[in-house]
Amino acid sequence: MAILIFAETYNGEFKKDCYELASYAYDLASEKNMSVTAICFNASNPSELSNFGVNKIINSSNEELKDFDATIYSNCISDAFENENSKILILSSSSNSKYIGGILAIKLKAGYITNVISKPSFSNGFSVTRNTFTNKAYEKVNILSENSILGLSKNSFGIKENSTKSEVKDIKFNIKSALNKVTSIEKMTTKVTIADADIVVSGGRGLKGPENWHMVEDLADILGAATACSKPVSDLGWRPHSEHVGQTGKPVSSNLYIAIGISGAIQHLAGVNSSKIKVVINTDPEAPFFKAADYGIVGDAFEVVPKLIEELKNFKSSNN
Ligand SMILES: Cc1cc2nc3c(=O)[nH]c(=O)nc-3n(C[C@H](O)[C@H](O)[C@H](O)COP(=O)(O)OP(=O)(O)OC[C@H]3O[C@@H](n4cnc5c(N)ncnc54)[C@H](O)[C@@H]3O)c2cc1C
Repeated sequence: MAILIFAETYNGEFKKDCYELASYAYDLASEKNMSVTAICFNASNPSELSNFGVNKIINSSNEELKDFDATIYSNCISDAFENENSKILILSSSSNSKYIGGILAIKLKAGYITNVISKPSFSNGFSVTRNTFTNKAYEKVNILSENSILGLSKNSFGIKENSTKSEVKDIKFNIKSALNKVTSIEKMTTKVTIADADIVVSGGRGLKGPENWHMVEDLADILGAATACSKPVSDLGWRPHSEHVGQTGKPVSSNLYIAIGISGAIQHLAGVNSSKIKVVINTDPEAPFFKAADYGIVGDAFEVVPKLIEELKNFKSSNN
């Protein structure tokens, strides 16, 4: 029996989440004596997944699958699930995967758990742990149906290389007509997005005004990071709302979150709790963010950040 993963692509390249899904599925499959099958659409190098323990890669190359379409994608994935005789489907936490997760749960009569942070335990049925209450609590959930869909929380398991012999199959799905169609995509930015970023550099009201944001952008550029901000910063129009992080904004699950001049109000922390390492730069040693930080610098951002940028530049040039 195969565990099926849906490996999302962008312009033919696998999104980084795919390697984590594959690593997770491989670990689970090894424990349960199962195999791992991946389904992907228009991947330019599908066999890349064999480095992460995937035994079979179903890559459907089709113009109709170029852009995300919830109806078409969920039809193809449910067909693959049934053809592979799967019982477990693993999805990422991207907005597209969350979108189709609900549709697939109905189609496959499957229990669907999002924000999963553990491997399933089989000691008492089929149970997993998930993040809940904006990552402030863990919840154990039992799936009672025969089929299960797990939406893996980003960066909760990590990427592990497992070189595996795999077969790649190009399958033509019977694509039923869609209910809607993407006619054009206009990207708002060519920079790294918060959802895809490994590193996020975020600024708060402590930066005094939009004219000082070049510090955040310079630091983000040198780290290959996305930029983000607190809610008041976007409310004031210093930064676009798409960058606002927190309970009422975007969640961030990056490996590194650098907060500059952000107090660390509970509503902000709600959005960054699941980031791995948090670095805080703040003049006020009593700022609540320091309690949630892994590393803290008590100092003026206008002194600390330029020095940090300079050091990173020196480090990069001495390592080139
Ligand atoms: C219902 C509700 C929902 C909310 N949702 C969100 C949300 O999703 N996201 C969010 O961010 N907020 C949210 N908020 C607002 C939240 O409560 C805080 O008001 C907000 O996060 C504070 O933003 P800030 O830290 O940028 O600003 P401030 O609270 O003004 O903090 C600025 C910080 O900068 C420091 N500072 C000042 N000068 C410097 C300097 N030169 N160098 C370094 N540090 C300096 C200060 O010591 C201070 O800690 C919400 C509030 C409510 C009521």
